[in-house]
Amino acid sequence: MLTGRFAPSPTGRMHLGNVYSALLSWLSAKSKGGEWILRIEDIDPQRSKEVFARQIEDDLRWLGLDWDRGGVDDPLYVQSRRGHIYEQYLGRLAELGMTYPCYCSRADILATQAPHESDGRVVYKGTCRPDGTPEKNEWLNLRRAEWLSLRKTEMGKTPAIRIMVPDRDITFTDLHYGTQTVNLAHECGDFILRRSDGAWAYQLAVVVDDALMGVTEVVRGCDLLLSSPQQIFMHELLGFRAPQFCHLPLLCNEQHQRLCKRDKSLDMGELRKHHTAPEIIGLLAYKTGITDCLQPVTPQELISVFDWDKVPSENQILRI
Ligand code: GLU
Repeated sequence: MLTGRFAPSPTGRMHLGNVYSALLSWLSAKSKGGEWILRIEDIDPQRSKEVFARQIEDDLRWLGLDWDRGGVDDPLYVQSRRGHIYEQYLGRLAELGMTYPCYCSRADILATQAPHESDGRVVYKGTCRPDGTPEKNEWLNLRRAEWLSLRKTEMGKTPAIRIMVPDRDITFTDLHYGTQTVNLAHECGDFILRRSDGAWAYQLAVVVDDALMGVTEVVRGCDLLLSSPQQIFMHELLGFRAPQFCHLPLLCNEQHQRLCKRDKSLDMGELRKHHTAPEIIGLLAYKTGITDCLQPVTPQELISVFDWDKVPSENQILRI
Protein backbone atom coordinates (compact mmCIF):
# COMPACT_ATOMS: atom_id res chain seq x y z
CA MET A 1 0.00 0.00 0.00
CA LEU A 2 1.27 3.46 -0.89
CA THR A 3 1.80 5.82 2.05
CA GLY A 4 2.18 9.52 1.41
CA ARG A 5 2.71 12.26 3.94
CA PHE A 6 2.48 15.96 4.58
CA ALA A 7 5.12 17.22 6.99
CA PRO A 8 4.58 20.88 7.80
CA SER A 9 6.78 22.89 10.17
CA PRO A 10 4.37 24.71 12.49
CA THR A 11 6.14 28.07 12.36
CA GLY A 12 3.19 30.11 11.09
CA ARG A 13 -0.14 29.89 9.31
CA MET A 14 -0.17 27.78 6.11
CA HIS A 15 -0.04 29.75 2.87
CA LEU A 16 -1.12 28.81 -0.60
CA GLY A 17 2.25 27.21 -1.39
CA ASN A 18 1.88 24.83 1.56
CA VAL A 19 -1.69 24.02 0.56
CA TYR A 20 -0.50 23.21 -2.94
CA SER A 21 2.09 20.68 -1.61
CA ALA A 22 -0.51 19.20 0.70
CA LEU A 23 -3.10 18.89 -2.08
CA LEU A 24 -0.73 17.22 -4.55
CA SER A 25 0.69 14.77 -2.04
CA TRP A 26 -2.88 13.96 -0.88
CA LEU A 27 -4.07 13.46 -4.48
CA SER A 28 -1.04 11.41 -5.43
CA ALA A 29 -1.66 9.05 -2.50
CA LYS A 30 -5.44 8.90 -2.80
CA SER A 31 -5.44 8.41 -6.58
CA LYS A 32 -3.41 5.24 -6.02
CA GLY A 33 -5.64 4.02 -3.17
CA GLY A 34 -2.96 4.93 -0.62
CA GLU A 35 -3.05 6.49 2.85
CA TRP A 36 -1.86 9.95 3.87
CA ILE A 37 -0.04 10.83 7.08
CA LEU A 38 0.18 14.21 8.81
CA ARG A 39 3.51 14.64 10.61
CA ILE A 40 4.27 17.73 12.66
CA GLU A 41 7.89 18.82 12.09
CA ASP A 42 8.36 20.95 15.18
CA ILE A 43 12.00 20.16 15.91
CA ASP A 44 13.06 23.79 15.85
CA PRO A 45 12.19 24.76 19.43
CA GLN A 46 12.61 28.49 18.81
CA ARG A 47 10.25 28.74 15.83
CA SER A 48 7.64 26.00 16.30
CA LYS A 49 4.38 26.53 18.17
CA GLU A 50 1.57 24.13 18.96
CA VAL A 51 -1.00 26.79 18.13
CA PHE A 52 0.29 26.84 14.54
CA ALA A 53 0.11 23.03 14.34
CA ARG A 54 -3.54 23.21 15.44
CA GLN A 55 -4.25 25.93 12.88
CA ILE A 56 -2.67 23.78 10.16
CA GLU A 57 -4.96 20.91 11.14
CA ASP A 58 -7.98 23.18 11.13
CA ASP A 59 -7.09 24.57 7.69
CA LEU A 60 -6.51 21.09 6.24
CA ARG A 61 -9.87 19.89 7.54
CA TRP A 62 -11.60 23.00 6.22
CA LEU A 63 -10.04 22.34 2.79
CA GLY A 64 -11.18 18.70 2.84
CA LEU A 65 -7.68 17.22 3.11
CA ASP A 66 -8.18 14.55 5.76
CA TRP A 67 -5.33 12.44 7.08
CA ASP A 68 -5.43 8.74 7.95
CA ARG A 69 -2.75 8.77 10.66
CA GLY A 70 -0.86 11.34 12.67
CA GLY A 71 -1.61 14.88 13.72
CA VAL A 72 -0.69 16.94 16.74
CA ASP A 73 -2.55 14.80 19.29
CA ASP A 74 -0.63 11.64 18.41
CA PRO A 75 2.87 11.92 19.92
CA LEU A 76 4.14 9.25 17.52
CA TYR A 77 3.82 11.77 14.71
CA VAL A 78 5.12 14.88 16.45
CA GLN A 79 8.87 15.30 16.02
CA SER A 80 9.44 17.14 19.30
CA ARG A 81 8.19 13.96 21.04
CA ARG A 82 10.55 11.64 19.16
CA GLY A 83 13.99 12.77 20.36
CA HIS A 84 14.71 9.41 22.05
CA ILE A 85 14.25 7.69 18.67
CA TYR A 86 16.55 10.12 16.82
CA GLU A 87 19.13 9.57 19.58
CA GLN A 88 19.09 5.84 18.87
CA TYR A 89 19.64 6.26 15.14
CA LEU A 90 22.31 8.89 15.61
CA GLY A 91 24.03 6.31 17.83
CA ARG A 92 23.88 3.80 14.97
CA LEU A 93 25.47 6.21 12.55
CA ALA A 94 28.16 6.94 15.15
CA GLU A 95 28.83 3.22 15.55
CA LEU A 96 29.28 2.99 11.81
CA GLY A 97 32.03 5.59 12.18
CA MET A 98 30.14 8.04 10.00
CA THR A 99 29.76 10.97 12.40
CA TYR A 100 32.06 13.46 14.07
CA PRO A 101 31.78 16.45 16.40
CA CYS A 102 31.99 19.88 14.86
CA TYR A 103 32.90 23.02 16.73
CA CYS A 104 32.35 25.47 13.90
CA SER A 105 29.56 27.85 14.84
CA ARG A 106 28.71 29.59 11.57
CA ALA A 107 25.89 28.13 9.48
CA ASP A 108 25.03 25.75 12.28
CA ILE A 109 21.45 26.91 12.68
CA LEU A 110 20.85 27.50 8.98
CA ALA A 111 22.11 24.05 8.08
CA THR A 112 19.68 22.22 10.32
CA GLN A 113 16.46 23.60 8.90
CA ALA A 114 14.88 22.12 5.81
CA PRO A 115 17.29 23.74 3.34
CA HIS A 116 15.02 25.50 0.86
CA GLU A 117 17.04 26.81 -2.06
CA SER A 118 15.97 30.39 -1.50
CA ASP A 119 17.48 30.34 2.02
CA GLY A 120 20.97 30.12 0.55
CA ARG A 121 22.90 26.90 0.71
CA VAL A 122 26.12 26.47 2.64
CA VAL A 123 28.74 23.91 1.58
CA TYR A 124 30.62 22.76 4.68
CA LYS A 125 34.32 22.57 3.98
CA GLY A 126 35.10 19.79 6.46
CA THR A 127 37.07 21.84 8.98
CA CYS A 128 36.39 19.42 11.86
CA ARG A 129 36.35 16.19 9.79
CA PRO A 130 38.70 13.47 11.13
CA ASP A 131 41.77 13.68 8.93
CA GLY A 132 44.46 11.51 10.46
CA THR A 133 45.39 13.69 13.42
CA PRO A 134 45.14 11.69 16.67
CA GLU A 135 42.56 14.01 18.32
CA LYS A 136 40.18 13.96 15.39
CA ASN A 137 40.45 10.22 14.74
CA GLU A 138 40.03 9.34 18.38
CA TRP A 139 36.39 10.29 17.94
CA LEU A 140 35.83 7.46 15.50
CA ASN A 141 37.04 4.92 18.04
CA LEU A 142 34.68 6.01 20.79
CA ARG A 143 32.20 3.37 21.74
CA ARG A 144 28.52 4.25 21.69
CA ALA A 145 28.10 4.50 25.46
CA GLU A 146 31.01 6.86 25.75
CA TRP A 147 29.73 8.75 22.79
CA LEU A 148 26.30 9.25 24.31
CA SER A 149 27.76 10.53 27.52
CA LEU A 150 30.17 12.82 25.75
CA ARG A 151 28.71 16.26 26.15
CA LYS A 152 31.56 18.72 26.21
CA THR A 153 35.18 19.05 25.21
CA GLU A 154 37.92 20.21 27.51
CA MET A 155 37.23 23.69 26.14
CA GLY A 156 33.73 23.43 27.59
CA LYS A 157 32.07 23.83 24.22
CA THR A 158 29.34 21.42 23.09
CA PRO A 159 29.83 20.23 19.52
CA ALA A 160 27.30 19.83 16.74
CA ILE A 161 27.37 16.36 15.13
CA ARG A 162 27.99 16.00 11.40
CA ILE A 163 27.81 13.05 9.06
CA MET A 164 30.60 12.33 6.56
CA VAL A 165 29.32 12.34 3.01
CA PRO A 166 31.04 10.40 0.23
CA ASP A 167 32.73 12.10 -2.72
CA ARG A 168 30.76 10.15 -5.34
CA ASP A 169 27.64 10.58 -7.44
CA ILE A 170 24.30 9.53 -5.99
CA THR A 171 21.71 8.90 -8.68
CA PHE A 172 17.97 8.63 -8.15
CA THR A 173 14.83 9.04 -10.18
CA ASP A 174 12.42 11.74 -9.16
CA LEU A 175 8.88 10.82 -10.18
CA HIS A 176 8.33 14.27 -11.69
CA TYR A 177 11.80 15.65 -12.56
CA GLY A 178 13.37 12.39 -13.74
CA THR A 179 16.95 11.20 -13.18
CA GLN A 180 19.04 13.31 -10.80
CA THR A 181 22.73 12.88 -10.12
CA VAL A 182 24.30 14.66 -7.17
CA ASN A 183 27.70 14.58 -5.49
CA LEU A 184 27.03 15.48 -1.85
CA ALA A 185 30.65 16.39 -1.15
CA HIS A 186 30.33 19.13 -3.80
CA GLU A 187 26.75 20.20 -3.17
CA CYS A 188 26.54 20.41 0.61
CA GLY A 189 29.54 18.75 2.29
CA ASP A 190 29.24 16.92 5.62
CA PHE A 191 25.92 18.01 7.05
CA ILE A 192 24.60 18.43 10.57
CA LEU A 193 22.53 15.77 12.34
CA ARG A 194 22.37 17.44 15.70
CA ARG A 195 22.93 21.07 16.54
CA SER A 196 25.35 22.18 19.24
CA ASP A 197 22.36 23.29 21.36
CA GLY A 198 21.04 19.72 21.22
CA ALA A 199 18.25 20.36 18.66
CA TRP A 200 17.77 17.63 16.04
CA ALA A 201 18.41 18.44 12.42
CA TYR A 202 15.74 18.11 9.76
CA GLN A 203 17.72 15.58 7.67
CA LEU A 204 18.06 13.02 10.46
CA ALA A 205 14.51 13.41 11.77
CA VAL A 206 12.94 13.18 8.33
CA VAL A 207 14.81 10.02 7.33
CA VAL A 208 14.08 8.20 10.58
CA ASP A 209 10.43 9.26 10.49
CA ASP A 210 9.79 8.46 6.84
CA ALA A 211 11.31 5.01 7.38
CA LEU A 212 9.62 4.15 10.68
CA MET A 213 6.25 5.56 9.58
CA GLY A 214 6.32 3.42 6.45
CA VAL A 215 6.25 6.39 4.06
CA THR A 216 6.70 5.16 0.48
CA GLU A 217 6.11 8.44 -1.39
CA VAL A 218 7.42 11.90 -0.54
CA VAL A 219 5.79 14.78 -2.44
CA ARG A 220 7.15 18.27 -1.69
CA GLY A 221 8.37 21.48 -3.32
CA CYS A 222 11.34 21.27 -5.69
CA ASP A 223 13.33 23.61 -3.46
CA LEU A 224 13.90 20.45 -1.38
CA LEU A 225 15.08 18.40 -4.37
CA LEU A 226 18.68 18.44 -3.17
CA SER A 227 17.70 17.08 0.22
CA SER A 228 16.70 13.82 -1.44
CA PRO A 229 20.23 12.50 -2.12
CA GLN A 230 21.19 13.44 1.46
CA GLN A 231 18.22 11.46 2.68
CA ILE A 232 18.79 8.53 0.29
CA PHE A 233 22.39 8.32 1.54
CA MET A 234 21.18 8.08 5.14
CA HIS A 235 18.39 5.61 4.33
CA GLU A 236 21.06 3.35 2.80
CA LEU A 237 23.42 3.66 5.78
CA LEU A 238 20.63 2.82 8.22
CA GLY A 239 19.45 -0.14 6.14
CA PHE A 240 16.10 1.46 5.25
CA ARG A 241 14.40 1.48 1.90
CA ALA A 242 14.21 5.07 0.65
CA PRO A 243 10.77 6.32 -0.42
CA GLN A 244 9.96 7.41 -3.96
CA PHE A 245 10.62 11.15 -4.21
CA CYS A 246 8.41 13.40 -6.23
CA HIS A 247 9.09 17.13 -6.33
CA LEU A 248 6.71 19.88 -7.37
CA PRO A 249 7.27 23.14 -9.20
CA LEU A 250 7.00 26.06 -6.80
CA LEU A 251 4.25 28.61 -6.57
CA CYS A 252 5.88 32.02 -6.76
CA ASN A 253 4.80 35.59 -6.20
CA GLU A 254 5.04 38.18 -8.97
CA GLN A 255 8.69 38.81 -8.03
CA HIS A 256 9.36 35.13 -8.91
CA GLN A 257 10.09 34.27 -5.26
CA ARG A 258 8.79 31.11 -3.61
CA LEU A 259 5.60 31.91 -1.68
CA CYS A 260 6.40 32.13 1.98
CA LYS A 261 4.85 33.07 5.27
CA ARG A 262 5.67 36.73 4.63
CA ASP A 263 3.17 36.85 1.72
CA LYS A 264 0.35 37.63 4.14
CA SER A 265 -2.37 38.04 1.53
CA LEU A 266 -1.92 34.37 0.57
CA ASP A 267 -1.99 32.90 4.04
CA MET A 268 -4.94 30.78 5.04
CA GLY A 269 -6.22 33.37 7.51
CA GLU A 270 -6.70 35.91 4.69
CA LEU A 271 -7.78 33.37 2.09
CA ARG A 272 -10.51 31.98 4.31
CA LYS A 273 -11.98 35.49 4.72
CA HIS A 274 -12.51 35.91 0.99
CA HIS A 275 -12.82 32.45 -0.57
CA THR A 276 -14.57 29.11 -0.06
CA ALA A 277 -12.51 25.92 0.21
CA PRO A 278 -13.64 24.67 -3.24
CA GLU A 279 -12.57 28.01 -4.76
CA ILE A 280 -9.05 27.64 -3.35
CA ILE A 281 -8.76 24.00 -4.38
CA GLY A 282 -10.19 24.89 -7.81
CA LEU A 283 -7.56 27.60 -8.32
CA LEU A 284 -4.70 25.25 -7.39
CA ALA A 285 -6.08 22.44 -9.54
CA TYR A 286 -6.28 24.80 -12.50
CA LYS A 287 -2.78 26.22 -11.90
CA THR A 288 -1.31 22.75 -11.76
CA GLY A 289 -3.07 21.61 -14.91
CA ILE A 290 -5.24 19.03 -13.17
CA THR A 291 -8.39 20.76 -14.42
CA ASP A 292 -8.67 22.77 -17.63
CA CYS A 293 -11.03 25.45 -16.41
CA LEU A 294 -11.12 27.62 -13.33
CA GLN A 295 -14.04 26.44 -11.21
CA PRO A 296 -14.69 25.46 -7.59
CA VAL A 297 -13.99 21.81 -6.87
CA THR A 298 -13.39 19.57 -3.84
CA PRO A 299 -10.23 17.46 -3.36
CA GLN A 300 -12.43 14.35 -3.48
CA GLU A 301 -13.70 15.30 -6.96
CA LEU A 302 -10.13 15.61 -8.22
CA ILE A 303 -9.02 12.09 -7.30
CA SER A 304 -10.27 10.47 -10.51
CA VAL A 305 -8.79 13.16 -12.83
CA PHE A 306 -5.42 13.51 -11.09
CA ASP A 307 -2.41 12.60 -13.23
CA TRP A 308 1.23 13.57 -12.66
CA ASP A 309 1.66 14.04 -16.42
CA LYS A 310 -0.63 17.08 -16.22
CA VAL A 311 1.52 18.84 -13.61
CA PRO A 312 4.01 21.31 -15.17
CA SER A 313 7.73 21.33 -14.32
CA GLU A 314 8.15 25.11 -14.42
CA ASN A 315 7.50 27.20 -11.35
CA GLN A 316 4.10 28.92 -11.48
CA ILE A 317 3.52 32.62 -10.86
CA LEU A 318 0.39 33.13 -8.87
CA ARG A 319 -1.97 36.09 -8.96
CA ILE A 320 -5.10 35.87 -6.86
N1 GLU B 1 8.96 20.41 7.25
C1 GLU B 1 9.47 20.82 5.99
C2 GLU B 1 8.93 22.19 5.66
O1 GLU B 1 7.84 22.53 6.07
C3 GLU B 1 9.07 19.88 4.85
C4 GLU B 1 9.93 18.72 4.82
C5 GLU B 1 9.63 17.64 3.83
O2 GLU B 1 8.54 17.62 3.22
O3 GLU B 1 10.48 16.77 3.69
O4 GLU B 1 9.61 22.91 4.99
